[in-house]
Amino acid sequence: MVEALIVACPACNTLNRAPGDKLAAGSRGKCGQCGSPLFEGRPIALSQASFPSHAAKSDIPLLVDFWAPWCGPCKAMAPQFERAASRLEPAVRLAKVNTDEERDLAGQFGIRGIPTLILFRHGREIGRQSGAMDAAGIESWVGRMLGG
Ligand code: ZN
Repeated sequence: MVEALIVACPACNTLNRAPGDKLAAGSRGKCGQCGSPLFEGRPIALSQASFPSHAAKSDIPLLVDFWAPWCGPCKAMAPQFERAASRLEPAVRLAKVNTDEERDLAGQFGIRGIPTLILFRHGREIGRQSGAMDAAGIESWVGRMLGG
């Protein structure tokens, strides 16, 4: 028996069962509902509606960048966050939450300054870091938080 992981589709948020060994080998898998790749090596945008599928129902740890379009350090970090996504997926899902559009989510997690990164596993916050980081810093921080 191959261990199956629950992975939320970035396009339609359907929960898929993906074989863990294939994901570990670098396969991106496809959504059984809409056929989209389950991982595209870049951050996905999350809203109040799609957040729970990826943060709580998925077996893949979720790293969220809380940001806003007017925030200079957020803009500076964006390409670094994208680079980290291409390296960390599919072990970790990377996502962005626009705190101007998703005020309820920002409030729910008590976001005071941006950028703020929060790492979730099975719906629980397991790490939080405020301030811009480069790709290498993001990767090593996530590795420490996941105990790897
Ligand atoms: Zn889908």
